[in-house]
Order: sequence, then C-alpha cells, then structure tokens
Amino acid sequence: MRTPVVMGNWKLNGTKSTVTELVKAFSTVANDAKNVDVAVCAPAVFIGMVESLATGSNLKWGSEDCDVHTQGAFTGENSPVMLKEFGCTYAIVGHSERRGYHNETNEVVAAKFKSALDNGLVPVLCIGESEAEYDAGKTLDVCKAEIKAVIDLCGIESFNNAIIAYEPIWAIGTGKTATPEIAQNVHKGIREFLKTFSAEVADGVRILYGGSCNAKTAPELFSQPDIDGGLIGGASLKVADFTAIIEAAKANA
Ligand code: PEP
Repeated sequence: MRTPVVMGNWKLNGTKSTVTELVKAFSTVANDAKNVDVAVCAPAVFIGMVESLATGSNLKWGSEDCDVHTQGAFTGENSPVMLKEFGCTYAIVGHSERRGYHNETNEVVAAKFKSALDNGLVPVLCIGESEAEYDAGKTLDVCKAEIKAVIDLCGIESFNNAIIAYEPIWAIGTGKTATPEIAQNVHKGIREFLKTFSAEVADGVRILYGGSCNAKTAPELFSQPDIDGGLIGGASLKVADFTAIIEAAKANA
C-alpha cells in the first residue's frame, strides 16, 4: 500500500502574507490527514518562512529546484545542503518549466536528482510529454527516457527514496486535465517500465499526476490504481481547492 502524496508547487507566486495564510491553513489540514503526505514546494526565498510556520505540524515542505553543487561560485543557485538546513523534505527536479525555460536536459535533471538524494532530500522527478509528442504517440518513450537518465546515473534503487510526477506538458496550467483513463494508462506504463529493472521498486514508488488537477478532477484521478496523489500548481494557491484535493487523497488512502 503506497501512502498518497498531495504536493503543492507554488512556482513564482506568493507574498509574505499569502504564504502565511496558506501555510497556516495547510498545516491544520495536514494534521487531519494522517494517511496522506501533504507538502508545499515554495520559492526558495520563502522556505525559511514556511519552516517557521509549519514546524511541528504534519505539513512538509520542499524546493522547486535544487542545484547540482553543494556550494561554491554558482550565483543564484540553491544548494541541497542549504535546503536541508531549512527543513526541506522534498526537492522538485526536472519540472517542464525548468526543462523548457532553462534548457535542462535529462542528464542535468539526473544530476540534480542525485545531488538532492545524496544530501538527504527526496527528489520529486517530473516527467511528461509535450502536446506534439502526445499527438505522435510518444508519451511513454519520452517518460522512459527521462527516467532512464536517472537510472543510469543513480541506479533503480534510488527510486526507493524518490517520487515521480507525471505531468503532461499540455495539461500544465492549461485547464486541460488528462482523463483518468489516459493518466492511469501512462502511470501503469511507467510502473511496468520500472518493473523491468526491479519489481519491488516499481511497486513501492509513488507516481503523482500533475497538470490542472483540481478539486473536481482529483477524486477520479486519485481512485486510479497507479495514481498515488498529485503535484498541484494553481490549485495549491487556494485554500479551499487544495484542501478539497487533500480530502480526495484521504478517500483513497
Ligand atoms: C505543475 O506545474 O506542477 C502543475 C501541476 O501546474 P497546474 O496544476 O497549475 O497545471
């Protein structure tokens, strides 16, 4: 039995006041959701605040990215060691916005995954295809290549301490959610691919769905056998919506 995860990805959003409001609300909701791992991944500048507000609750937090290096002359980056010092549990790596806007290749993402893992963070590996790749029937090929780069660098066992988030790029921030059937088929394909390396790892790894997942669509998505929760963008900035998504995960825990 895999514990569901509901994780917010705030992206480049938030003010001191909204972060305070959201973390206070989600800490209370997380305390009532003992069978679900609830987390928010925040812009680095807010992580210290999240730590102060959420410590002592069941709400966990993480970063939206993580550098390959632990320290040195890398202006603007955030080291996994620093993120760990501020209480992060998770580090998202390979979000499609990082891959797209910052030219992060599968190899760079794999190196970030390793850096997070080696320094005690749980990497959340984002994978997923573009609309053109979806139309061309290449969804699983893209996902497999993104996962294989990590297996090549870190080994299959690394997924014992990691999470995968399947996020079709055409569904991110567009209001278009993959249907539960489409999402389930991809999640199943990802798990089958992992099984070719290790059945045990494949059975244990949590695979989240992300892409316009909201209060309405979460219940059916989360009831699919291979969907273990969600990585939530826009809806994680709204107390009522994120709370309803957590409720949907509780119903499937
Ligand atoms: C995301 O970008 O991780 C995401 C899931 O965004 P949204 O829910 O806004 O589509």
